[in-house]
Amino acid sequence: MVMDQEKGLFDVLIIGGGPIGLACGLEAQKAGLKYMIIEKGSLVNSIYRYPFNMNFFSTSERLEIGGSPFISVNPKPNRNEALEYYRRVAESRNLTVHLFEEVTGVKPLPDGLYDVQTGKALYRTKNIIIAIGFYDIPVLLNVRGENLPKVTHYYKEPHFYYRQKVVVVGANNSSVDAALETFRKGADVTMVVRGSEIGERVKYWARPDIVNRLKEGSIKVYFHSAITEIRSHEVDIQTPDGKVTIENDYVIAATGYQPNFSFLEKIGIRFSDDQFRLPEYSTETQESNMPGIYLAGVVCGGMNTHVWFIENSRVHAEQIMAHIQTKSLVHAA
Ligand code: FAD
Repeated sequence: MVMDQEKGLFDVLIIGGGPIGLACGLEAQKAGLKYMIIEKGSLVNSIYRYPFNMNFFSTSERLEIGGSPFISVNPKPNRNEALEYYRRVAESRNLTVHLFEEVTGVKPLPDGLYDVQTGKALYRTKNIIIAIGFYDIPVLLNVRGENLPKVTHYYKEPHFYYRQKVVVVGANNSSVDAALETFRKGADVTMVVRGSEIGERVKYWARPDIVNRLKEGSIKVYFHSAITEIRSHEVDIQTPDGKVTIENDYVIAATGYQPNFSFLEKIGIRFSDDQFRLPEYSTETQESNMPGIYLAGVVCGGMNTHVWFIENSRVHAEQIMAHIQTKSLVHAA
């Protein structure tokens, strides 16, 4: 593909238009740098794909970026309010964002610059920020039948499940939300949980609700258990009392997500070789083992996806920009 000569050399290209990619764009803009955010989907694509009725566990001011106030009706905003907020920020601050353009490769050049290949163009840049999140790749159950159309790793909304036999896998926020919502819209819900209880990180207002539904038996649960096979009308569950087969119409596998490690590996990012696969970066500057390539947002946690949130990773944008500004720069026209 031909280099996009018209756009020339960038100070920084930001891969990912989630909240943290946008925060990086705002900081680059403030510093007067020549920057662009490249997003493979819609603006804040992960939040767009969240369950429709999702409420954040953070209060709205902790989700703010670039100093723009986030006003929500209740202390904890919902998905729609967040979409509204980040879109208004992008628009009112005139952020340079290319949407529906996927970065497919990054090539280091001998002079310390990088070529960034997308599905639409080739760009040249001095620095890159990788803010790709972790929501694109689900952690799989790895059981037979997982690829049946009745199985989803991305629960959306409850109406569809009315009068259906639903198995929800997992015991954290996403599973609890899905179990409670579908139960309240008339589904017959069974939870399958690997551990001995509902996760401690479950939102403080949802946890007693689910614990009481399990106690009264209106939502069924198998603790210390795992699905071993999914078929069109049944699932097999390995329980402490042996294998159980139950009738089933739909499986919601809320088993978590993971960063796109192969994309990062292809770029040359190194990882720890333990179970968390933590990417290598300086906690002061966020620069990775590749000079001029920075990591920002929840991607920094590797498989440990509970470490970074919007509220504690917004600061990556300032750290990175402070470091980039110590280098020689192109600057916006
Ligand atoms: P993301 O928002 O995931 O953004 C990454 C972006 O990169 C995506 O838009 C993706 O499409 C894009 N991308 C990926 N690969 C490429 C590529 N090759 N080329 C171009 N673009 C690419 N955090 C909180 O602080 N408070 C909460 O209440 C909260 N609730 C959450 C609820 C749920 C259900 C989930 C899953 C997470 C929640 N989080 C919360 C965690 C986290 O803060 C969010 O996931 C947040 O969206 C992370 O921001 P990010 O910008 O790092 O990544």
